[in-house]
Amino acid sequence: MLRLKDKVAVITGAASGIGLAATRLFAREGARVLALDLDETALKTAYQPEVLFRASSEPASAGRGDREREAPVVPFVADVTKEDHVAQAMATAAELLGGIDIVLPNAGIFGRHALIQDCPLDEFERVLRVNVTGVVATIKHAVPHLICRGGGSIVITSSVGAVVGNPGSVAYAASKHALTAVMKVAAAELAPFGIRVNTVNPGLVDTPMIHALEHDLAPGDPERGKTILQEATLLKRYVQPEEVAELMLFLAADTGSFCTGAMYMIDGGMQYCLQHR
Ligand code: NAD
Repeated sequence: MLRLKDKVAVITGAASGIGLAATRLFAREGARVLALDLDETALKTAYQPEVLFRASSEPASAGRGDREREAPVVPFVADVTKEDHVAQAMATAAELLGGIDIVLPNAGIFGRHALIQDCPLDEFERVLRVNVTGVVATIKHAVPHLICRGGGSIVITSSVGAVVGNPGSVAYAASKHALTAVMKVAAAELAPFGIRVNTVNPGLVDTPMIHALEHDLAPGDPERGKTILQEATLLKRYVQPEEVAELMLFLAADTGSFCTGAMYMIDGGMQYCLQHR
């Protein structure tokens, strides 16, 4: 049985990594997905759509988009740090796909790996803007549509960075710790509307984000960077984005119907390695 039959999902950061894996899995499970990303080229490569929606283009009209209404995935180019982009994406999902039941605020960046004394504050603010403001904007503009459907599920992509303070990650760790607060507040505010809110907290995921970190940790020798990183987990490996997407599916679907206000670690025990180092 399809676990997301007749559901509509909005997934941000959907052109790569975890967001791409989640979009593919959710579509296979029967959902229609508005796949939002900043990177137009990556969206086109991932989904090869006939029509690409853009935040700056005119809003979808009733006479347009019949093919998209049937399509499992509707790619949408937008920047989660721009509130008008996010509002337009949600309106498009509601109009074209008939409503919104599931939201995955997943778009995020690591920023530059730097100790606090070397961290440029504009870089710090850039990371917080994408990782926190972008998530709040996504939730803010999805909520009225979720309420219209009588409930739903929000699964925020956080990180093991929400529970440890790894050297060199002040902006990223601050942003992911902040997402725990966003999740708790949203879970409390939205429970009366039947909307569940949780975070998924991956450790090291085999995506372009972690490959960039390998280079930062061992310039010119990414294999060594990879070994250093994998040694920081109990299970000594990266998690695949498809494994993270399965946990998101559990929380988004009826399987997670009693789950709200919680963090779900999928870090191969990394939090214990980092705490006891
Ligand atoms: P990724 O770089 O493969 O994908 C991130 C996607 O987000 C990209 O397609 C990018 O274009 C998009 N994006 C970035 N800024 C955006 C913006 N302002 N508006 C819209 N889209 C934007 O990375 P990933 O590893 O799949 O990361 C996804 C999420 O998982 C992030 O929130 C990240 O913090 C989190 N995470 C990743 C890891 C890891 O090891 N890779 C670990 C823990 C948590």
